Amino acid sequence: MTRLANQMRQQGQSVITLSQGEPDFATPEHVRQAAKEAIDRNESRYTEVAGTLALREAVVRKFERDNGLHFSPDQIQVGCGAKQALYNALQATVQDGDEVIIPTPAWVSYPEMVLLAGGQPVIVRCSAQAGFKLQADQLERAITPRTKWLMLNSPSNPSGAVYSRQELEALEQVLLRHPHVWVMADDVYEKIRYSDEPFATPAALSPYMAARTLTINGVSKAYAMTGWRVGFAAGPLPLIKAMNLVQSQATSHTSSISQAAAVAALDGPMDFLPEFVEAFRRRRDKVVAALNAMPGIECDLPMGAFYVFPSCQGVLGLRDPSGQLISTDKDLCMYFLRSAGVAVVPGSAFELPGHFRVSYASSDQELEEAMSRIAQAIARLS
Ligand code: PMP
Repeated sequence: MTRLANQMRQQGQSVITLSQGEPDFATPEHVRQAAKEAIDRNESRYTEVAGTLALREAVVRKFERDNGLHFSPDQIQVGCGAKQALYNALQATVQDGDEVIIPTPAWVSYPEMVLLAGGQPVIVRCSAQAGFKLQADQLERAITPRTKWLMLNSPSNPSGAVYSRQELEALEQVLLRHPHVWVMADDVYEKIRYSDEPFATPAALSPYMAARTLTINGVSKAYAMTGWRVGFAAGPLPLIKAMNLVQSQATSHTSSISQAAAVAALDGPMDFLPEFVEAFRRRRDKVVAALNAMPGIECDLPMGAFYVFPSCQGVLGLRDPSGQLISTDKDLCMYFLRSAGVAVVPGSAFELPGHFRVSYASSDQELEEAMSRIAQAIARLS
């Protein structure tokens, strides 16, 4: 959708892109400064495959401080974004035909990465009524002797759903009966949450969970550093070692300069964060209110990340002004793009049709204009 939107923009059309997953803020000043200093120190050589010791120690401190998790530096791998951590883990562990449970709606890359590793994605659809969260009975039904991993992502892209500790404990009860199933916890949106409830992550539930969870996080979302490409994973030593073998044959490591910047990010002040989160909260509230005022659109108030995932079931089956039937979420998103110049992503891309994803990591002005355009486009359906 972003590519199509860019094409239309190049042709001179006015297009608002709400299809991208990155904060629109600037990387904090002290982080940029640290990168410049690393360049001036000529930190321009290969680093260790797992990442510099300085960064892995900063990651160890982050997990202690924020999550009460205890790791040694050799239980940490740093790679080119959380994305590479997910990829390395799947490549290192998934054999042909192994199953990976993916509760959906889920980030588009999960099923594709599982397929690239020769595995079988097992899609479990989680309804809006269940807050887009996996329920214990669904997990129990999805597990087979071939299950290798359960992927969990909280706060979620695309739904913004956040699992409470209690909800994770309900899943743990099921996992206790199936010790061959491991958990990949993708916590990249940890810092972007709107409730005061403490952040819950699977590895922190119990020693049982810690022994079979890979916890993945990074600096992309919390520090507005998507382009720097730094993510990390922490977990049992044999798993991290296997992931290092994969990474050493792929990218070796992420940029030495980015690693120096990430140390400054993780160890530095977080005083910019409340302002980030407050701005996102204001935009979320505005977008949710605007969407709920549109006939046929229903949108819950998500508790994290910077996406909303409204249902569009109420408008499917209508026709656009040219008589074209809008029968799927994809048709609707194409209609929004072509007739209103607003790019959003169909829910089917996230394996939950009948919805679409709006990223509100855009300016207030752009969001207002986009919502008004979508409302007018919906009003033209009959
Ligand atoms: N996980 C999720 C759920 C995401 O949405 C993203 C980015 N869109 C990532 C992982 C990857 O983040 P990065 O590689 O930039 O750390």
